[in-house]
Amino acid sequence: MAPKNRWHLNFVEDAKENGHDWAEGVDRVWHNVVCPRCDGEGTTWHGLSFAAEDFAEDREGLTEAIEAGAFDRPCEECHGNKVMSALDIQAMPHEIQQEYLRWETEAINLARADAQERMMGA
Ligand SMILES: [Zn+2]
Repeated sequence: MAPKNRWHLNFVEDAKENGHDWAEGVDRVWHNVVCPRCDGEGTTWHGLSFAAEDFAEDREGLTEAIEAGAFDRPCEECHGNKVMSALDIQAMPHEIQQEYLRWETEAINLARADAQERMMGA
C-alpha cells in the first residue's frame, strides 16, 4: 500500500473533523502517482552531495560506490514504494477543488509561520 500524500491526508481529515459530508466521498478516490520526491526511484540521498575534493582522492572508487547505490537511502516520502497515494484534485467537483485550494493556501501559510517561529527560536 503506497503511503498517502500528507497534505491530501490532512485535508481529508480536516474536512471530516469539520463535518463536511463530501469528505467520505473524497476519501474513496485515492490513486497512485509516481513519487514526486524521488521521481519513482524509491531512493534519495537525503541532501547528501559530494565536493570535488571527495572525487580527487579516489575518483573511481567513489564513482563505483555511488553507482552501486552505497549512498542510496529509502525515499522519505514514499518509503521506497516509488509511488504515492494521492487525491485526484482535478477530478473533484469544482467546489471541493476550491475548498482544497483554500485549505492548501492556509496550510502552507501555517507551515511557513511555524518554520519562521522556529528560526527565531520561539
Ligand atoms: Zn519517493
